[in-house]
Amino acid sequence: MIYNYDNVPTPCFVVEEELLIDNLKILKKVIDDTGCKILLAQKCFSMFSAYPLISKYISGTTASGLYEAKLGREYFDGEVHVYSGAYKDEDIDEILKISDHIVFNSFSQWDRYKEKAIKSGKKCGIRINPECSTQEGHAIYDPCSPFSRMGVTREMFKIDDLEGISGLHFHTLCEQNSDDLEKTLDAVEEKFGDVLSRMEWINFGGGHHITRKDYDILKLENCINRMQKKYGLKVYIEPGEAVALNAGFLVSEVLDIVHNGMDLAILDTSAACHMPDVLEMPYTPVITSAYYGDDKEKYNKYRLGGPTCLAGDVIGDYYFKEPLKIGDRLVFTDMAIYSMVKTNTFNGMKLPSIAYKDQSGIKIIKEFGYDDFKNRLS
Ligand SMILES: *Cc1c(COP(=O)(O)O)cnc(C)c1O
Repeated sequence: MIYNYDNVPTPCFVVEEELLIDNLKILKKVIDDTGCKILLAQKCFSMFSAYPLISKYISGTTASGLYEAKLGREYFDGEVHVYSGAYKDEDIDEILKISDHIVFNSFSQWDRYKEKAIKSGKKCGIRINPECSTQEGHAIYDPCSPFSRMGVTREMFKIDDLEGISGLHFHTLCEQNSDDLEKTLDAVEEKFGDVLSRMEWINFGGGHHITRKDYDILKLENCINRMQKKYGLKVYIEPGEAVALNAGFLVSEVLDIVHNGMDLAILDTSAACHMPDVLEMPYTPVITSAYYGDDKEKYNKYRLGGPTCLAGDVIGDYYFKEPLKIGDRLVFTDMAIYSMVKTNTFNGMKLPSIAYKDQSGIKIIKEFGYDDFKNRLS
C-alpha cells in the first residue's frame, strides 16, 4: 500500500474502497456460512456515499434514532433497524414508518408506544441486559456496568408483557473477540432462555471485531448457529467498527514546531475536534510514517497537538527517524470509524474534507467551510 496523499487538502479523511471491500468480503462470508443478517451500525460509520457499495455485501443498517434511520433508508438498499435509549413522541411515527425493526430499551417505552408499534406491523424487540461484563478498563463502553440504563435486566423483565414483541436485542461488547460473545450468550441463555424460545429473532448488537486479524470467526459462526438451532431464531449482528476497520485515514500537515522541554509539533488537525476518541477512549492513533521499533528512543521524539486553545488537545508522543519539518504530511490510520461521525467545530475549527479512493484514484467528495461552523449556531 502506498500512502500517497500528497494532493488532498488537509485535514482530510480518506477512505479506501479496496480496504473497505476486504472487510465486507469477510462479513459477507459470515452471512453466507450461517444465514444470519449483518447490519452496519451507522453511529460508527455514516459515510453514505459508500452505502450503495456496502449494501452489495451486507443486509442493512441500524440506527440510534430518527436521523440515522432516515440516512439508512435513503442511501442503503436493505433493512433499517432502530434502537434508541428512549424515543420521543414527535419522532415515533416517522421511525415506525421507515424502519423494519424497532428495539425498545425498557418496558415503559414499550408500553408507551406498543399500540402504534404493533399497528405499524414492524418487528418489535426489547433490549436486554444480561449483566455479563466481559470488558475491563472501559466502563463508559460497558452497558453491563452497575446502574446501567441500557436494557432490561431479568429482574426488570416483564414476562407477561411480550405480546407484540418478536425479538430480543443485546449489546454488551466493544472491540471484542468471539470468546466474549460466547460467554455473553451463556449469560443470555441462563437468564432469558425461557424467553428465547418464545421469540423469532435475536440481535447480538455490535462490538464484534470480526475483521481484525486475530478474530475467531469460526467461534462467531458457532454462536450464531447455536441460537438458530436451539431456539429457531433468526440472528442479526450489527457491527460498526468491523465494517470500516482500518479502511480510512486522516491526513494532516505540520503547521509549526516549538520546543518546551521537548519537541512539540502543532498540526492542522485536532484531537478534540477531529478524533475525539483519542481523548475520550483514550488511545494514541498510529501514524504511517512514525517509527515504532524497539530502539525508537534514539530517534526524534515529538508530542503532537492540535491548533486549538485546549491545552489537552494532544494527540500523543511519537518517534520519527527524520526530524519533522513544517509542511510535512502525517497520516493517521484507522480513522474511518468513530472519527468522521464525531467531528465538531469547537474553536471554529474547519472540518476535515472527505475523500474516497477507488481504482480511478482519489476523489474529494466533500469539503467544508465557514458555513458549516456558522449553521450550527445562532
Ligand atoms: C455502538 C453500537 C453498535 C456498534 O458497535 P461497534 O463497536 O462499532 O461494532 C451496535 N449496536 C448498538 C446498540 C450500539 O450501541
